[in-house]
Amino acid sequence: MRTALRFLRVFLLGLAVIATGSAQARKLKVLISVDMEGVAGVVSADQLSPGSFEYERFRRFMTAEAIAAVEGAKQAGATEIVVTDAHGNEQNLLVELFPADVRIVRGSPRRLGMMGGLDASFDAAMFVGYHASTHNSNGVRAHTFSSARFTRLTVNGAEVTEGAWNAAVAGHFGVPVIFVSGDDAAVAEVRAAIGPISAVETKRTLGFHSAETITPEASQKLIREKAAAAIGELRQRKPYKVTEPVTVAVSFKSITPVEAASYLKQVFTRVDSHTLRFAAKDMAEATEILQFLMTYRLELEP
Ligand SMILES: [Zn+2]
Repeated sequence: MRTALRFLRVFLLGLAVIATGSAQARKLKVLISVDMEGVAGVVSADQLSPGSFEYERFRRFMTAEAIAAVEGAKQAGATEIVVTDAHGNEQNLLVELFPADVRIVRGSPRRLGMMGGLDASFDAAMFVGYHASTHNSNGVRAHTFSSARFTRLTVNGAEVTEGAWNAAVAGHFGVPVIFVSGDDAAVAEVRAAIGPISAVETKRTLGFHSAETITPEASQKLIREKAAAAIGELRQRKPYKVTEPVTVAVSFKSITPVEAASYLKQVFTRVDSHTLRFAAKDMAEATEILQFLMTYRLELEP
């Protein structure tokens, strides 16, 4: 009898150890970076800028697509989610509509830019509402970080998109990007850079300001499903890493900001009339320098 009891005790202890182990293994922390140009229905500044006639409706659709990704991730086992508002003034998402256990990064400037809030404790990152890059002739509102300022961005000599840059920031922290939604051009660019990740095409690009779009309801359903599928594929995904330290080149639309920055010889080299080059120890530092270039204003343009 006593032996049987002892056996039972050891057995139960074993079960407890296994249960604790699997509970720890189940921790799954996800960052969701949300832009707006790639949200279903968006085609022009009329949806994208505070004060424009459709902005208030479309920030609701942006919020709903972000929440769909949150729901999909949770269904598939995500235990902790941070949502990063990554469009324009970075205060678009309607925070009161999110589930109470989600935290939201908003406001700018900030370290890590569109990936604000990320660190090495995350298991995965997702992109919602992304758009194609400034060097792509396809894509609704295609630009790279700043449509007003930049015409081209390279890392270690290769042209990069916002998606590839942000994926490399995640890669710096060892975090894989596992999902993207946006127009067809944006999805193709991200997949070309980082691999065949789970994706939702919210619209087919017809021009810079035109698209054939699916409805908000349809996009939210697809994002929920594909974000969940992405978590299921997590083991197959690897962080996207670029060689660090990095060399970055940024081409501007205007000359004066380039000329002024070129006086900071310790940081910038002027490569040509419109282009600055700088070195950074890693993608996090490179993003800080890029934040400076996007934020600092002495009303220099044009
Ligand atoms: Zn945006």
